[in-house]
Amino acid sequence: MPAKLLFQLDTDAHPSVFDTVVGYDGGADQVIGHSGVTPESVGGLVEGAIFTRGAKEKRFTALFLGGASMAAGQALLDAVRGKFYGGFRVSVMLDSNGANTTAAAGVALLAKASPIAGKRAVVLGGTGPVGMRVAGLLALEGAHVSITGRKLDRTQAAADAVGRRFAVQVGAVEAADDAARARAADGCAIIYAAGAIGHQLIAQADWQSNASAQLVADVNPEPPFGIGGIAANDRARDYDGKLAFGALGIGGLKLRLHRACIGRLFEQNDLVLDAEAILAIAKEMA
Ligand code: NAP
Repeated sequence: MPAKLLFQLDTDAHPSVFDTVVGYDGGADQVIGHSGVTPESVGGLVEGAIFTRGAKEKRFTALFLGGASMAAGQALLDAVRGKFYGGFRVSVMLDSNGANTTAAAGVALLAKASPIAGKRAVVLGGTGPVGMRVAGLLALEGAHVSITGRKLDRTQAAADAVGRRFAVQVGAVEAADDAARARAADGCAIIYAAGAIGHQLIAQADWQSNASAQLVADVNPEPPFGIGGIAANDRARDYDGKLAFGALGIGGLKLRLHRACIGRLFEQNDLVLDAEAILAIAKEMA
């Protein structure tokens, strides 16, 4: 059997160490990192992957696209797919900033706990790569989604970008402090905190007194957590009828999901793993 080669194409100055380790743990025999990869420079790398092995052996070569910027990763994925034609293709996964796997793991756990369709959801600190993916996936699942950020123009731009990427409607709410974010969560069944590491976004009293809140989730792994009063390991922990998911409760599935996705890349030569396909796998695993 040919060696399973994973080409890690990273848009940053250094290929992510996290993604390299998970590449091996997911089943690659060799992970080869390239940094500073752009849509303009990726063509030759893709040609090397698609023109080298015969039809039956192409599945043993795969591409992983990463880096801090999901916008840069998405543009890279478009460029990579633009090079594929006929049988000349290999499987490819996009997970810039870990945003697809993190968002998919969280949304899959929520969906397992309670139906998402028709619910109102707010993604607090939703302007970053993880929050934007969470917003898009919740909307695809049928929720009515808003995101909050501290400045309206930046928040609106993020909501619009989610809307374009996922063909959904996402609202934008300026909420610069915990009290404003608590107001933004009024009437929401789902409160999902996706803010920067080590920052609380909503106080314990505010979500616990929110009559509409049913599911609260947080991906910030460092205290103070995004959702006040929950524990990092919470996974559908019941707080007086509201189910909570903490960063490690979600992160355990995220890591297993990332590994499983790498494994699947080597099962066929035409798999494209972006947010929607990764969510489908997460739902199987949740
Ligand atoms: P990020 O881009 O660093 O931050 C998300 C948003 O937080 C920013 O766009 C910003 O929005 C807001 N923010 C920044 N500082 C703030 C402050 N002092 N107060 C309130 N809001 C603030 O986050 P990310 O990379 O998308 O990641 C989101 C979270 O997921 C992070 O906590 C990260 O550590 C975690 N994460 C977890 C995993 C996992 O496996 N569990 C994987 C990846 C990431 P505005 O400037 O628009 O307000």
